[in-house]
Amino acid sequence: MRKAFKYRLYPNRPQVEALDAMLGAHRRLYNLALRDRRDTYETERRSVSYGEQSGRFKESRKVLPSFAALNFSSAQATLRRLDKAFKAFFRRVKAGECPGYPRFRGEERFRTVEFPSYGDGCKLKDNGRLYIQRIGHIKVKLHRPIEGRIKTVSLKRSCGKWYVVFSCDLGDAPEATGDDPAVGIDLGLKSFLVTSDGASVEPPRYYRKATKKLRRAQRSLSRKRKGSKRRGKAREKVARLHEKTANQRRDFHHKEARKLVDTHGLIACEVLNVRGISRSHLAKATHDAGWAQFVNIIVSKAEEAGVRVVAVNPRNTTQACSRCGALPEVKKALSDRVHSCGCGHTQDRDVNAAENVLRLGRSLRAQTYRDAESVA
Ligand SMILES: [Zn+2]
Repeated sequence: MRKAFKYRLYPNRPQVEALDAMLGAHRRLYNLALRDRRDTYETERRSVSYGEQSGRFKESRKVLPSFAALNFSSAQATLRRLDKAFKAFFRRVKAGECPGYPRFRGEERFRTVEFPSYGDGCKLKDNGRLYIQRIGHIKVKLHRPIEGRIKTVSLKRSCGKWYVVFSCDLGDAPEATGDDPAVGIDLGLKSFLVTSDGASVEPPRYYRKATKKLRRAQRSLSRKRKGSKRRGKAREKVARLHEKTANQRRDFHHKEARKLVDTHGLIACEVLNVRGISRSHLAKATHDAGWAQFVNIIVSKAEEAGVRVVAVNPRNTTQACSRCGALPEVKKALSDRVHSCGCGHTQDRDVNAAENVLRLGRSLRAQTYRDAESVA
């Protein structure tokens, strides 16, 4: 079982410069390797393999000091990322989709350096500092203890701040707790979620406030002249607000997921087809991305606790009656807040949906959320 632990880094000024330079060199490597693949295809009509690129990188280290300065395995990890992007691209072409060709990465689109084997180029020291090859010992704020054995390390830059993410092995998953009590959850736009027990969780108020602020900042940014100093400042402000709302949302998700996992043995939840929805309806895309994050948090907390998470096909869950199973003759509109069936059953619309999700979840014995997601 794997778990990620993320911490803020506090590099001093020379260390910041060295980290920026390292990230820049990795980005150049990524873009050069991408160009190499593209050009080779255009001139020789063949694709370049990861192994070939790794070999060429080894050669280029003899003449390029910025590449020679990189930790070898972390540079290989960057080449593997490109390889993965190409494999995904070809897989989607094969499936008849129209994916975009892997893109060159600008500074804003390349933020991570990976160290694939812990101890090789990157190590957490006893004095609580993170040692990075050629950069030195950087202060880390370990605000919570690391669990398990560290396997890989990633360094990330976000809004001018640096973070380290340790991916740790926690050993075997714990024994299953048994299904009871079980709960179904309905994720919605009006309430953040409603459970089959009838409880509802509202989106936090500060979140709406922050969204408003963000919208105002974005408008102000769009009014600034391109390339001007004020525009740069306005852009920084937007990025800062984005980061803040994202953090608030993540905290909220962690808290609500913790409550669900601590009090249940089985959690049934709809499968979210994030890609499909976000293309058809842009305004809903942010919500869906938020839900996907929330469900992922539930899944990883549940895994640690031996709680089962079951993915349910959301088809008809809002329409069908949770008591008799019948579909209504006239479909409920989004504004119909009450479910009322010919069998005499009347219930809050979302609680009815959550009960349907739970019933379907109980009937699906084997399918876990991760299985369903890879199918969807
Ligand atoms: Zn009914």
